[in-house]
Amino acid sequence: PTKTRFAPSPTGNLHLGNLRTALFSALHTWSVGGRFLLRIEDTDAERSRSAFTEALQDDLRWLGLDWQEGPGADGGHGPYLQSERGSIYEGFYTRLLDEGHAYPCFCTQEQLAAQRAAQRASGRPPRYAGTCAHLGHAEAEARVRAGEAHTLRFRVPEGRTLDFEDLVRGRQAFASDDIGDFVIRRADGTPAFFFCNAVDDALMEVTHVWRGEDHISNTPRQLLIMRALGLREPSYGHLALIVGADGAPLSKRHGALGLGELRRRGYLPAALNNYLARLGHSYADDGLLDMVGLAAGFDTARLGRAAARFDMDQLNHWQRLAVAAADDAVFLEWAGAAVAPVPPASRDVFLAAIRDNVLFPDDVALWAEALFAASPPRSAEAETAMRAAPASLFEAGLEALDQHPQDFRAWAKAVGAATGLKGRDLFMPLRAALTGQVHGPEMTRVFPLMDEAGVRERLLSAAR
Ligand code: GLU
Repeated sequence: PTKTRFAPSPTGNLHLGNLRTALFSALHTWSVGGRFLLRIEDTDAERSRSAFTEALQDDLRWLGLDWQEGPGADGGHGPYLQSERGSIYEGFYTRLLDEGHAYPCFCTQEQLAAQRAAQRASGRPPRYAGTCAHLGHAEAEARVRAGEAHTLRFRVPEGRTLDFEDLVRGRQAFASDDIGDFVIRRADGTPAFFFCNAVDDALMEVTHVWRGEDHISNTPRQLLIMRALGLREPSYGHLALIVGADGAPLSKRHGALGLGELRRRGYLPAALNNYLARLGHSYADDGLLDMVGLAAGFDTARLGRAAARFDMDQLNHWQRLAVAAADDAVFLEWAGAAVAPVPPASRDVFLAAIRDNVLFPDDVALWAEALFAASPPRSAEAETAMRAAPASLFEAGLEALDQHPQDFRAWAKAVGAATGLKGRDLFMPLRAALTGQVHGPEMTRVFPLMDEAGVRERLLSAAR
């Protein structure tokens, strides 16, 4: 059975890059009826925070990326926090040591830095020189027993080609001689990424690993570890990175693109999911899909190799569709405090009337103010439209209000008859006077909601 996983390090909040990895992983496994696993890679005690671990789970649930196995959903392969798996890793370290696949390394940071500098100076790529690989067993044992600080290194076999079939990029081959012996346990006893990531994918029976292209050169090392331990290796698919408009990799540096920020601005899960699912993957269907639809249409053959360019306008296109599709209860909750200026009895009609004109709760707030605030904001275009109209237009509007206080069509018709204005010359200044904007919701729907004194006040101020 297919099992994919998302394995974030809780050293920050989710951003669009790792979110898309999570989404693709989930959609792939769900598309074939498989399971999605969440594993928290919190081995870096310095940088990991439990607050990030909590927040990322909350974000995944909010997006609808629920995991079938992971924290809070035991699938028999836990614990799912790497910080709690130390005793499991110890068993594998012992095996690697006993079988000669690993050795203790006593080189200090200073010695390693000097090695690298010497290699660079002679034009060779920096790589562990193998100093401790040749220590006799007895000497190494004695130094370990004496408490000397040491890491564990994996002994990379010489003269081998390590190859695998990447699910996105096809056949990949790496020469083992280009890979120096690498650290699998740090001096403080914590497991290094290459090691625990590989061991856990195997132990947790992950069948497909989707991750960013930046990890591709890690894969040969991870294959070496799994092969040395006789563990079953997953298939790997390395996804093209997301780049910004400038072509540089999208990352936390593009601060505004953290999920937290997008969530606070009011992006809906459906907008983010539909956009991200099409960032480096194409769908036959260009309508808004729910998670079931996104999974059904997901096809690994449709993954692109080229870098995917992030485009805010595209994201906003999906936001527009998601806002239109949100059910009333979701929409009301989403609008939140922005409806405060609207009398409670008018809120449902108000929200229905403005729905096509809003992308974010801030836009809801704008219309709530435009229609209900004592002195609504006015755009420059509205000012211009009002100034272009004769004052008699607004005076006629005030007069016609007595007869038609609730019916925009009848009222505007009366104003038109009194002034001889029609079409745009009639409607644009009236809209501008009443809402302070030149575009917006249908006046026939919002006019009846407006308080008559408020309408009068707006027309008076326009006539001045
Ligand atoms: N914890 C790693 C990361 O966040 C996981 C990489 C992987 O998916 O294998 O980059």
